[in-house]
Amino acid sequence: MTDLPNYTVRVSLRAKCVRLSLSVEDGLEVVIPANYDLLKIPELIQKKQDWIARNQDKLDAREAFFQSQAPDQLPTCIKLRSLNEEWQIEYQQIAHKSDHKSGTIRIKEINNQLQLVVVGNIADIESCKAIIKQWLLQKAEKHLFSWLHKVSISTNLPYRTTTIRSQKTLWGSCSSDRNISLNYKLLFLEANVVEYVLLHELCHTIQMNHSARFWKLVSNFEPNYKALDKSLNQAWQIVPAWLDFC
Ligand SMILES: [Zn+2]
Repeated sequence: MTDLPNYTVRVSLRAKCVRLSLSVEDGLEVVIPANYDLLKIPELIQKKQDWIARNQDKLDAREAFFQSQAPDQLPTCIKLRSLNEEWQIEYQQIAHKSDHKSGTIRIKEINNQLQLVVVGNIADIESCKAIIKQWLLQKAEKHLFSWLHKVSISTNLPYRTTTIRSQKTLWGSCSSDRNISLNYKLLFLEANVVEYVLLHELCHTIQMNHSARFWKLVSNFEPNYKALDKSLNQAWQIVPAWLDFC
């Protein structure tokens, strides 16, 4: 038996059968009817490991989403899952006379420490966010262009050009003349999900629709495409909400 997660047991007089509940407030809770045999609980939890893991992931994603719902606050950390990088952000207030005009906020990378320093009039929250977004757009160009190129070569699906876009609800698109656009927010997603988006758009260079033939083509390269497509639908939750206020 593998290690069991922590849990608490609650006896409920109304419960007719045993059930598990998972919440941010209470963690994993086993709710049992009054006459339930406590010795059965470890085995029950063992059997429900998949359910627990799946729901824990959902909770974590939702937590991260709500944590980021503070549009008035500046982010102190940026987690780029696709690159396996977690950047810390520091803010330094410098208010020289010449810094009162707009465009005076600068961003510096301290690369080997994965650290960003935003320098200038940091009371100007909107400008700070805008400059971080600018940094993200450049980062997306640097990584997503070469990534798409690599997938294109390995699948033998050529395209014409790529652009990085800042869209709210679209991860990527492919035009009829094989120009692919990619959302810079892909940087926040897991690498296998990004890889799937790149493949998906490249398959549109052959099939411009979501027909059975399109999915057949996708599945030739990625048999697990259904699960990846599903996680993509929920992936918006892990993109920091403050970016949509830029
Ligand atoms: Zn599509």
